[in-house]
Amino acid sequence: MLTSFHSIIGQEKAKTLLHRGIGQRMGHAYLFRGPSGVGKKSMARAFAAYVNCLSPVNGDICGQCRSCIKYRSGNHPDFLFIEPAGAQIKIAQIRELKKKLAFPPFEAKYRTILIPDIHANLSRAEVANSLLKTLEEAPPNTVLILTGDEAGNILPTILSRCQIIPFYALSYEKVAELLKKDMDPESARTLAAVAEGSLGRARTLQEQDLLTLRRDIVENLIEVKADHPMAVETVFKLAEKAVKNKDNLNELLDLLTIWLRDLILYKKGSSNLIISQDLAPLLPLARQRWPLETLFHHLHLLEEARKQLLRNCNRSLVFEVLFFGLL
Ligand SMILES: [Zn+2]
Repeated sequence: MLTSFHSIIGQEKAKTLLHRGIGQRMGHAYLFRGPSGVGKKSMARAFAAYVNCLSPVNGDICGQCRSCIKYRSGNHPDFLFIEPAGAQIKIAQIRELKKKLAFPPFEAKYRTILIPDIHANLSRAEVANSLLKTLEEAPPNTVLILTGDEAGNILPTILSRCQIIPFYALSYEKVAELLKKDMDPESARTLAAVAEGSLGRARTLQEQDLLTLRRDIVENLIEVKADHPMAVETVFKLAEKAVKNKDNLNELLDLLTIWLRDLILYKKGSSNLIISQDLAPLLPLARQRWPLETLFHHLHLLEEARKQLLRNCNRSLVFEVLFFGLL
């Protein structure tokens, strides 16, 4: 996989900072820091390929030289990609790296090393310090690129030794526009709103088909009232489907919260502010179904469910109680 600067959406500040540093005052260690899913890893790959491209064109890789071809195939001998062996990067992996860095690059101008997601992979001070020490002893043409999420914890030693390149959330319009290429505009707008400026996040939600699950839940809630003979069975079935998305339960709650806000706005006559456009056809039925006070109570139930998930309560139970409350 070969990524060019050009193919990365937005992040102009990062691109400028990186370009400015190339050549004269090239850093030894970079930390690409910002929200998840906004292009940090892609930029790291683009940067690594760029510094070694033999004939760059307009500030970007050429895509055709010997070096670019090797980056594309994933077999560039001077590009090292370090992923944790287990939950974290291990000290043995740093020792391994140290051995490799004792020699100059095989063929490229710079030896490029990418270690992604250090907020999760590199939280032990001992390992981080060993990495930084290894880097100090490495030949000057070594470039280490780390990526880390803004919200995650990153050790102070790393922060103080790396050149920090900031990444930002993309605008809602930008994410929606990009998503529209692969889906209908209503779904694109809804996912963009939930993903909070992260294209990666939006794509994950799309892959997991969270919008379909949410629609299924909303349709069932509209149809099945608490005294319906199928009420109990429906609630259990929906809860079971919901908890299957164990990594995206918060996002599912976000989607349901947005739906409730939309319904409240609709009842108050502000249809132009509705985000869940894909559920618009359900709004007239839903308006009949619940009085306004009940909908505010439902918002409260969603908040409760969110807190319970944070406290690691039994997920199935949390969703069963929630869906009973929302009937
Ligand atoms: Zn090239």
